[in-house]
Amino acid sequence: MLACDTREAWAQFLEFVKNRCTPTAFGNWFAPIRIVEASAEEITLEVPNIFVQEYLLSNYKKDLVAFLPTLPNGEPAIKFSVASPVKKAPAASAAPTPVAEERPSEESSGLYEIKLNTNYRFSSFIEGGNNQFVKSAAVGVASRPGVSYNPLFIHGGVGLGKTHILHSIGHHIKENHKKLRVQCITTEGFINDLVDHLRKKSVDRMKRFYRSDVDVLLVDDIQFLQNRLNFEEEFCNTFETLINQNKQIVITSDKPPAQLKLSKRVIDRMEWGLVVHMGMPELETRVAILQHKAELKGLSIPNEVAFFIAEHIQSNVRQLEGAINRLSAHCRLLNVAITQEMVERTLKEMLVTAPREKITVEQVLKSVAAIFQVSINDLKGSSRLKDVAIARQVAMYLAKEYVKDSLITLGLYFRKTHSTILHACKAIEKKIGADEQLTRMIQMVRRNLETA
Ligand code: ADP
Ligand code: MG
Repeated sequence: MLACDTREAWAQFLEFVKNRCTPTAFGNWFAPIRIVEASAEEITLEVPNIFVQEYLLSNYKKDLVAFLPTLPNGEPAIKFSVASPVKKAPAASAAPTPVAEERPSEESSGLYEIKLNTNYRFSSFIEGGNNQFVKSAAVGVASRPGVSYNPLFIHGGVGLGKTHILHSIGHHIKENHKKLRVQCITTEGFINDLVDHLRKKSVDRMKRFYRSDVDVLLVDDIQFLQNRLNFEEEFCNTFETLINQNKQIVITSDKPPAQLKLSKRVIDRMEWGLVVHMGMPELETRVAILQHKAELKGLSIPNEVAFFIAEHIQSNVRQLEGAINRLSAHCRLLNVAITQEMVERTLKEMLVTAPREKITVEQVLKSVAAIFQVSINDLKGSSRLKDVAIARQVAMYLAKEYVKDSLITLGLYFRKTHSTILHACKAIEKKIGADEQLTRMIQMVRRNLETA
């Protein structure tokens, strides 16, 4: 690309953006940017402040890459230089912090907020072993905001229902605590909003809003705060102010707090309350979810076919939904019934043929022993010490779930009858959800097994 082409490419990029944003946004963000230098490999842009640079990269990176030269790593080859501020006459007083002009425009009065998805409610959330605890914690928080667990931090892989639970909390509070003001945001949106307010010099307004006009803050996908140094602090301040006033905060994330690349201060704050893990629902729950979603679409799936699908889609719930959507479209177009053969054909590329690495009884015993701090011999033995007996029941419960052997074969490992195993499974099922600490420990074993 020649230098003049790069200039031309920038002009085209601006043209492209102009058609996609409001004239005010264009005037605020793009009009002040100047080209300092352009070569075939790189363009240097002068921006009025760091926020414009941030805004450009966080909102338009994909388009910048499409229009402008790129680096070998695929990033846009843009250098930024921040324009030196226009010198003002020194203020008469020695006040160290100049007071920002506070003239919020019409447009800036509406603060960014996510509308709660009307389908995401507790009533449409199907529970099972792996998400039961998350749901009870969420119901607890929604019933008594700011009282039980604050913050509630929900982490887990994509498509497992974190946003669903977050919005369910929002709906429940709005319906049952009408006076409380619920604000649901994504981290991305919060940052964009903040940038926008900084630019319009109305950031104090935004701060005031978050610190005094919000009773419940729901934050989706906190992982996007990573690598956004400029914003971590502002987020943390908001967070602390709310927590100090016993305002409820719920956060979702794709990883646990300690694994987020954020400052220690922020991580510590996240860990103040209750941290819960949302796992992939186990087979029976996946079947129930499938049947539930099918019913909503007026689709009838024979139970054995639902089992077949649930057994072969193990990555996340969103994919299960995708399967239902595809089946539903197929049935409507071709007017055929759902059979296993038809499912195999229609969902060919979605179904995993290679089952997950098989988990063995030994692995279950090892993980339970490590987390419950008992020995493997204890787990196979017959001590009636309470802690040992519970750990043994947990091992049986998880062995039944993860190891697809018959109860009789499992019994041999534990030197017990199959009815003892069954009894243990029922006893643990009853305790899950009710006994927080036990539920948490079981979650830890699961994670250990699933990530081994
Ligand atoms: P995440 O935020 O964890 O990526 P979502 O909350 O967006 O996942 O969930 C993906 C989809 O799966 C949503 O449509 C949601 O309604 C559905 N879903 C997830 N878990 C469940 C569940 N236990 N019961 C019913 N629907 C679920
Ligand atoms: Mg989500």
